[in-house]
Amino acid sequence: MDSSRLEVLISADDISRRVAEMGLRIGADYPASEPLLLVGVLKGAWIFLADLARAIPRSVSIDFLSTSSYGKERTSSGEVKLVRDLDESIEGKHVLLVEDIVDTGITLSYLMRVLGQRQPASLRIATFLDKPSRRREGVDIAYRGFEVPDKFVVGYGLDFASKYRNLKDLCALHEGGSQDRCP
Ligand code: 5GP
Repeated sequence: MDSSRLEVLISADDISRRVAEMGLRIGADYPASEPLLLVGVLKGAWIFLADLARAIPRSVSIDFLSTSSYGKERTSSGEVKLVRDLDESIEGKHVLLVEDIVDTGITLSYLMRVLGQRQPASLRIATFLDKPSRRREGVDIAYRGFEVPDKFVVGYGLDFASKYRNLKDLCALHEGGSQDRCP
């Protein structure tokens, strides 16, 4: 039986307001005449990317990649692998890497290295969440939705063992207790 307990950390309304602000800022920062490619890191960033893309008041294109995930673990093994690469070349393009959460920073510093070698016109990071307390590798975050404490979070695209991605609120997942529902 699943004995996890969920605690709402950030409500759906607060998320929606913040993502709208981020979209406007990103729209203002990139020249409208130059193409902007949003690269979503699957699977966690899918909902954030979908909302952010629609909050940016200019045309954007979208591509995805995916890295090896934590699976059923709550902490990173420290090893990252590119499991799915981009469909298109990023050479000469403005690229915004869209991630769900920066935790140790290992995934994004790896992706910045790999994508940086492909000669994009620019390469920046937009992350929904930042958990700075566990950082092991420095990453330069251009756009940050929220800072979160050192708790394992789920919802708004983020999972644990493939569950909870479709929760509208962002919740902390606690072991024990009897509630398996984000109110
Ligand atoms: P990092 O390489 O920065 O340690 O971890 C990045 C990835 O770890 C994120 O894209 C996410 O998939 C996963 N991750 C890190 N912290 C959490 C968390 O609190 N909840 C969930 N669901 N995933 C996390």
